[in-house]
Amino acid sequence: MAKLSVGGQAVIEGVMMRGPKDVATAVRDPNGRIQVETHPVSSIADRYPILKKPMLRGTVSLVESLVLGLRSLSYSAKMAGDEDEQLTDKEMAGTIIFALVLASILFIAIPTGAAKFFHFITDDPVFLNLMEGFLRLAIFLAYIGGISRMKDIRRVFQYHGAEHKTIHCYEAGLPLTVANVQRFSRLHPRCGTNFLLIVMLVSIFVYAFLGWPSLIERIVSRILLLPVVAGISYELIRFAGRTTNPVALKLIKPGLWLQYLTTRPPQDDMVEVAIESLKAVLPAEEILPGSGHYLTEDAQAAAATEPPASDHVPALES
Ligand SMILES: [Zn+2]
Repeated sequence: MAKLSVGGQAVIEGVMMRGPKDVATAVRDPNGRIQVETHPVSSIADRYPILKKPMLRGTVSLVESLVLGLRSLSYSAKMAGDEDEQLTDKEMAGTIIFALVLASILFIAIPTGAAKFFHFITDDPVFLNLMEGFLRLAIFLAYIGGISRMKDIRRVFQYHGAEHKTIHCYEAGLPLTVANVQRFSRLHPRCGTNFLLIVMLVSIFVYAFLGWPSLIERIVSRILLLPVVAGISYELIRFAGRTTNPVALKLIKPGLWLQYLTTRPPQDDMVEVAIESLKAVLPAEEILPGSGHYLTEDAQAAAATEPPASDHVPALES
């Protein structure tokens, strides 16, 4: 039987999973209990079908997963006891703007500015764009390497590994138990890490068409062309996620290697959280008999008395 398309991301002390209809965030609270929040998810592309067209769907999906991811992250921070309050929409917008400005400086302004040091070799725009691409990749690797030294980030990377292993186990058609899940690889071809790497490679090609104008023009044009870069990258990773072509499978290898940095082997109690998260977004008939149940007793009792999912207020509108 064909498996449903599921994806996810790691959050603080937990895992967010996105199924065909719902998105769930499961978090281990400071008392050791697993808390699960589920809400239905809809895409703006359902209302405006033109947004489902190739090249447009990449940017739409990127922005929507960014927003979903941040909400889930903010929920997990609250549940894991890091924050007193969930972020308000205003704080969320502030966080996004801050992250975008920081990313523009780190991954656009600095590499394209520093590429001028290669002028002494040649003024060829293709060469300079290539050097800029290498600098961008180097900054990205240094950034990931740097944050992975932080203890909290390491735990997030472990939950990231738990998310991948759990999805592999589901896609292999095995009951979701800790023992089954732990047997699978922590690297997954549909990971967002691959997407970032492909974005970097595609941007070298796209930006090469612009020649080598002034620094300000380069920065502005690169930001404006991001939807084009994201669109092409999305189509490529979509293709890579389905293909069995041996050449294409070789080409996605670097993205998988990069996941050695962005994932870590998870502990069993982290896998339990990932399993609860995935089960929350799967239709009942998709959860194989023998799959584990890792909620604590009082959480199970609470789940039993909860109203059906259709009565839930969509968190996106709260
Ligand atoms: Zn991933």
